[in-house]
Amino acid sequence: MKNKVVIIGGGMVGAATAVALAKKGAQVIVVEQFPIDPIETFNDAQIDIRVSAINRFSERLLESLGAMPTLKASRTAPYTRLTAFESGKNVLSFDHTEVNTSHLGHIIENKLIQASLWKQFKGLPITVKHFETPARKIEQSESEITLTYDQEVLQADLLIAADGGRSHVRQLAGIGTTGWQYSQHCMGVLIELDAPQQTETWQQFKATGPVALLPMSAPFANLIWYDNGNKLKLLSQLSPEQLKMEIKAHFPTLPGDFKVLNSAVFPLARQHANHYVKGRVVLVGDAAHTINPLAGQGVNLGFKDVVALVDVVSLDDVGECGALKTYERMRRKDNLLMMSTMDACYFGFSNDIEPLRIAREFILKMANNADSIKAQVLKHAMGDA
Ligand SMILES: Cc1cc2nc3c(=O)[nH]c(=O)nc-3n(C[C@H](O)[C@H](O)[C@H](O)COP(=O)(O)OP(=O)(O)OC[C@H]3O[C@@H](n4cnc5c(N)ncnc54)[C@H](O)[C@@H]3O)c2cc1C
Repeated sequence: MKNKVVIIGGGMVGAATAVALAKKGAQVIVVEQFPIDPIETFNDAQIDIRVSAINRFSERLLESLGAMPTLKASRTAPYTRLTAFESGKNVLSFDHTEVNTSHLGHIIENKLIQASLWKQFKGLPITVKHFETPARKIEQSESEITLTYDQEVLQADLLIAADGGRSHVRQLAGIGTTGWQYSQHCMGVLIELDAPQQTETWQQFKATGPVALLPMSAPFANLIWYDNGNKLKLLSQLSPEQLKMEIKAHFPTLPGDFKVLNSAVFPLARQHANHYVKGRVVLVGDAAHTINPLAGQGVNLGFKDVVALVDVVSLDDVGECGALKTYERMRRKDNLLMMSTMDACYFGFSNDIEPLRIAREFILKMANNADSIKAQVLKHAMGDA
């Protein structure tokens, strides 16, 4: 048996990979620069400004890993309706009744998703390690891989890079990327809403970039505001009351009065690793691909990576290159398709060019009235395609 796995990065994707592989029978080491105590995280009343719209595919994964019950018992909010619009009349909406499900997904704080997975580490063959400085080098032979830290040397049959968009492992392994920085940035604003639990998530497309509402567990919600980086930087320096006034001027009317609690600005990048596999090194999640968060697909794609990878590897030799290449073939096309779809939306909607505006109006109307198109889009959004 060659079943020793080292995972660098214990974020949402790395932690899910660790639990899934350990449940399969692998011996897993998770190296995380900011280790967490899951119980403390769940007891912490501070709301994470980073939230994710988790689709049905991801929910099924979290369920199978034992994480979903913990999440449902904490702050999560199911959404049952998804709406995109430009002006009042060009509306494209999807409802859970159209696909006969109780809901379309959940909005969940990232830190809770991560903690719900770390909670599963207990009782599984998973060891967590923390090093002051990142690994100095990676060396591979045909049969194993070695990671050299200042304090320790780790040996494994498979090294998984789940260390996010700026992956250090990807660099050490000499895997390049292609991509670009979007001119738009994105501001998340955590608000407290004076309204009952909301179940509709909506996005309004504007020439300067979309604005969106992600309803969290009441009374909280996350507002997403895309615009150029300088403008968002200025907005983030306003007082909560001033920012509220700006939100009122730029967002559709919110369902009730609200208080601004916190905000943060994120730069946006599209980045795709040139390879997902090099020898016994494999990339998952944002280490392999970062995508415009326009339709909230980043971690959902990462969770699809996890399922594909865990499915193909064998405990006889968990780092066997043929299986890893199969994983890459399975995931690269799907990730690329989603990245390109998001870019088409980004470039197609963020402008005031008249012919494009007319084309958008036509597409939104047609899609909203064509059941088969809607069903197809919904399947992708839910992760079922
Ligand atoms: C504004 C915004 C909104 C988004 N909304 C959504 C959404 O609604 N739905 C959705 O699906 N996706 C969304 N995303 C994307 C989603 O947040 C990412 O895809 C997701 O966080 C990627 O998870 P990850 O575990 O791959 O990487 P990360 O979350 O980046 O985790 C990487 C982990 O590795 C650790 N690490 C890094 N370097 C090292 C090292 N050298 N040694 C040890 N540990 C290390 C980090 O501490 C971290 O814990 C959004 C992104 C943004 C920016």
